[in-house]
Amino acid sequence: MSESTLGGLFGGAALGGLNLNTAPAAPEHEETDETIHEVVIVGAGPAGNTAAIYAARADLHPVLFASSVAIGGALMNTTEVENFPGFVEGIQGPELMSNIAAQAERFGTDVRYADVTRLELEGDVKKIHTSDGKIHLSKTVILSTGSQYRSLDVPGEERLSGHGVSWCATCDGFFFKDKVLAVVGGGDSALEEANFLTKYASKVYLIHRRDSFRASDIMQKRVFENEKIEVIWNSQVVEIQGESTVNNLVLEDTATGQNRDLAVDGIFEAIGSDPRIELVADQLELTENNTIAVQGRSSRTSLPGVFACGDVIDPTYRQAIIAAGSGAVAALDAQHYLESL
Ligand code: NAP
Repeated sequence: MSESTLGGLFGGAALGGLNLNTAPAAPEHEETDETIHEVVIVGAGPAGNTAAIYAARADLHPVLFASSVAIGGALMNTTEVENFPGFVEGIQGPELMSNIAAQAERFGTDVRYADVTRLELEGDVKKIHTSDGKIHLSKTVILSTGSQYRSLDVPGEERLSGHGVSWCATCDGFFFKDKVLAVVGGGDSALEEANFLTKYASKVYLIHRRDSFRASDIMQKRVFENEKIEVIWNSQVVEIQGESTVNNLVLEDTATGQNRDLAVDGIFEAIGSDPRIELVADQLELTENNTIAVQGRSSRTSLPGVFACGDVIDPTYRQAIIAAGSGAVAALDAQHYLESL
């Protein structure tokens, strides 16, 4: 795939409104591709693509399954990335992701834009079922499925999703020029989104359920210095209202239990994410945090030949650089495993 095509694919993966919480439906008829691959990678964020760079350079001819809808993972929803080493002035998240993917392709990674619907991970040859009706075979599988956005699960959220309820400021912020917005959450994502949205919105309410943020000091400083942002502490959104688009939030004071209305034109949810494990939850050992369990600092899962990396194994750090590093670990582990066969 050429870089210009990649640019198009990575240009605007609007995740807001998409339900990423379930595995895609399996096709009715399936056909097995008899080729037995050395390495199949599931998930095309920084972890999966870095695993692909390493595996491709090791001549393992990796096949990388990128989802058909949400290619590129969480970096696609990020604005300026200032802490990825090597970019002195920072780089936009989608551009960084596009670069990593282009690097994986440069070494011959076979990228396929199909959803993995089912995995059979026992035995020497693993089976990877995809939404285009194919069953692919591989000696190893690297899982880099990342994480999915949490929802508030309140009345009005689902109905107004895509009509003022969003999970992606970089995708949807542009549509809210001179509007009043709310961002929910107290982590780095929420503060980053709130800051970013002030580029368009006339005002941004940052709603947090406690009285202090967990976000980094630098992000907090930027928020407190931004005159367009008003922080609403100790508050939960309990209902999202509006006929065809969002026009009001019902907030509950977490200290007093009292409700009040807040007129807004849109709400951006940034309340964290959960590891995307639905394809493997019944086959692999998981941790108490619902991440895939790996052995020590390795990427080895509870099944031989199956490796995991990135946010799907990480309940703590969740950084692009860590996901990328962990992708490298997974490719090296897969390579050592293949050498031992
Ligand atoms: P996070 O750190 O887990 O924060 C989630 C926030 O949402 C918390 O403040 C949490 O409140 C709140 N929350 C969770 N469930 C909620 C609910 N049901 N209702 C209301 N609020 C709720 O998630 P994140 O901000 O997405 O960050 C994830 C990781 O990515 C972090 O390690 C972060 O540092 C990293 N990250 C880094 C950057 C950067 O370096 N530029 C940018 C984005 C993200 P409590 O605080 O009360 O638990």
